[in-house]
Amino acid sequence: MQRTPLVAGNWKMHKTVAEGLQLAKAMLPGLQALDGVESLICPPATALMPMSALLDGSGVALGAQNLHWEAEGAFTGELAPQMIAEFCSYVIIGHSERRAIFGESDQAVQRKLAAALDAGLAPILCVGESLQENEAGRAAEVLTSQLRAALSGVTLNKPGALVVAYEPIWAIGTGKAATPEDTNTLLRNVVRPTLAGLFGDEIAGGMRVLYGGSVKPDNAAAFFQQDEIDGALVGGASLTAPSFVGIAQAAQ
Ligand code: PEP
Repeated sequence: MQRTPLVAGNWKMHKTVAEGLQLAKAMLPGLQALDGVESLICPPATALMPMSALLDGSGVALGAQNLHWEAEGAFTGELAPQMIAEFCSYVIIGHSERRAIFGESDQAVQRKLAAALDAGLAPILCVGESLQENEAGRAAEVLTSQLRAALSGVTLNKPGALVVAYEPIWAIGTGKAATPEDTNTLLRNVVRPTLAGLFGDEIAGGMRVLYGGSVKPDNAAAFFQQDEIDGALVGGASLTAPSFVGIAQAAQ
């Protein structure tokens, strides 16, 4: 099944509004010249409003890094799905940093994901095993369990409504990427069949599954050559225009 590659930049807690706009402006010509690749920028929440004005009509999508599942209320410091949906089309859900540092449970991830879908946002659901789990040969078990927990009770009517990002925790920000071949095998044998079990072959076959973890311009093409890898979620290398554009060009 034909799936348009998606290259997403997660800026995490980097860049003020002025710095972010400057960076996005530097990326725009390269991203707009791409053919057959979707690109997405996920800046800090403070930059979402000005960034949406900059990216409007550019063909480059905008995403948030988090949301709360409630529609409104006494949740100091949180942002509701509709507040995010005013500016964004995507939202990252269940990033390993949120799970590890902010104690987000599988149940919280499930609630956020369901609320994002209800608000018309396309969640990018992050799943991935730790180094210890990987070394114990438990990657498949962890991925299946995270996917089933996050997607329990979720119905989808089109494959584009959800993106999955396989991000082995040991590869994030370490410079030690997984191998493209191992990743492809895991996606083919574990991730895609789990999605098919939940949503059926047609939806699962059309859904984009990204790889994330130390993707750089010089290793990106090897990932994108794999038939199960439909793009990348990029952290560190999304913080400069040449490296992010270089990765997106490799997806072309
Ligand atoms: C990430 O945080 O999602 C990520 C993949 O980071 P990095 O590219 O820096 O490993």
